[in-house]
Amino acid sequence: MEPKTKQEDGSKGIIDKSDTICIIGAGPAGLTMARSLCAKGIPFVVFEKHKDVGGIWDIQNPGSPMYESAHFISSKYLSNYFDYPMPSDYPDYPSNRQILMYHRKFAKDFNLYPYIHFETTIKEVTQSGEKWIVKTTTNESYLFQGIVCATGITWSPNQPKLKGEESFSGQILHSLHYKSPNLFKGKRVLIVGAGNSGCDIACDAGANAEQAYISVRRGYHFIPKHILGKPADVFGDGAHFIPNWISQLVFGKLLKFLVGDLTKLGLPAPDHKIFETHPIINDQLIHNLRHGDVIAKPDIEFLEGDSVVFKDGTKEKIDLIILATGYNWSIPYMEKKYFEWKNGRPDLYLTLFNRNFENLYALGYMETDGGAYKMFDEMANLIASYIEAKNNHHPSALQFAKLIQNDRPLLNGNIHYLNSGRHSVYVNQVAYKQYRSKIQKKMGWPELKVGQFKRLETSDSSSSFQTLVSGGSK
Ligand SMILES: Cc1cc2nc3c(=O)[nH]c(=O)nc-3n(C[C@H](O)[C@H](O)[C@H](O)COP(=O)(O)OP(=O)(O)OC[C@H]3O[C@@H](n4cnc5c(N)ncnc54)[C@H](O)[C@@H]3O)c2cc1C
Repeated sequence: MEPKTKQEDGSKGIIDKSDTICIIGAGPAGLTMARSLCAKGIPFVVFEKHKDVGGIWDIQNPGSPMYESAHFISSKYLSNYFDYPMPSDYPDYPSNRQILMYHRKFAKDFNLYPYIHFETTIKEVTQSGEKWIVKTTTNESYLFQGIVCATGITWSPNQPKLKGEESFSGQILHSLHYKSPNLFKGKRVLIVGAGNSGCDIACDAGANAEQAYISVRRGYHFIPKHILGKPADVFGDGAHFIPNWISQLVFGKLLKFLVGDLTKLGLPAPDHKIFETHPIINDQLIHNLRHGDVIAKPDIEFLEGDSVVFKDGTKEKIDLIILATGYNWSIPYMEKKYFEWKNGRPDLYLTLFNRNFENLYALGYMETDGGAYKMFDEMANLIASYIEAKNNHHPSALQFAKLIQNDRPLLNGNIHYLNSGRHSVYVNQVAYKQYRSKIQKKMGWPELKVGQFKRLETSDSSSSFQTLVSGGSK
């Protein structure tokens, strides 16, 4: 394996790296992919547009959706990289700054930095036979054996046009541009959307704005961050052996008992069972609604001058609207033809393998009901195992290629996720793991083993977390 090489001679020719895998993006997905390839001795390089690793967790990374108050939504106990726990002195739900430090320490400990070209944006990737040509904004071109797209899904705002928007005298921002609660001082603020970011931002507004409102279209189940003193995911993890329909029944009842009737707070009753949408893990919003610091509103009817009129006919003066309305997924450096986009999501085998183009992989283009990083690690191991089998002309490579073409498993664990773009590549973690393990066993490709990455660790891997973050928020 070869650490990065720079095109020193200034030539504009194509640099031949046709035995090497190109990972685009050094966020969590790119880092875990790098560790897996490193462990198998498969040559790779990583390109990262920013000046350091950590993806969205670096609030200084231009275009990152991170905000100062953001904390992890899944708990630290179930959200770490494989065999790389979060520090024992971290709280149950670490801050964005702590998560950033964790990613940087991971990259340092596994000696991944030498493989990463920083401040290098990929502007175009095109196929050339079975290989791929990669062009950077620094005007370098490379020929690679394969591509792993790991550039994330939260960079392009989904910003619906609001009726009457042209007449509105206030300001409208997408949540991507929200960074600090200072923005809310002295303002009447409306947050649109009650996803996890929307709820966090509404709470920031509740504590800082003159008055805060949250507009929701449908009812959601709000899961408290702790249940009976345990982080919610740790509490639920003990119940994985129970069929999903029983968990839905039991958790539904438990939530009613713990959280009470949300319609009394002005929120609509959920129109679906618990776990049928991405979980909203937040108890602070309920607290704010109960104190009147945030007021719940239905969907917006239209904007008019300095006011917003809601579907129930009520009207409020608003200075600032924050649209927490999610993201459009894109892979902007690749022409649309390279991915089959369905409901705004790429259709990939096991969310990883391109069905129509050889040697084109993607990691991180899915959403799931728990911490993502261990799953990323297992997925990266699967991609690396396939590349290894191909490189060695092992018969399992051909067998797997057929599965990529023809196998279309349902990975929802019999939960009927809401029929929305967001949930079209939503996978149930337990169902995914079971299926992936079954396939991997069939191919004879080993699962990750505790200790297998130890030999990659640098000797100073005990260095302090504190020294690794120059930016980030408190
Ligand atoms: C507020 C918030 C809270 C979250 N909380 C959790 C949580 O609690 N638990 C959890 O598991 N997940 C959580 N997530 C999901 C989160 O998306 C993942 O944690 C993770 O950051 C995704 O990693 P990624 O590597 O796929 O993408 P990203 O973090 O988006 O990283 C992509 C990288 O690619 C780089 N890049 C982009 N385009 C290019 C290009 N053209 N050329 C070169 N480089 C490029 C970017 O600079 C970036 O470094 C949260 C997300 C948000 C927004």
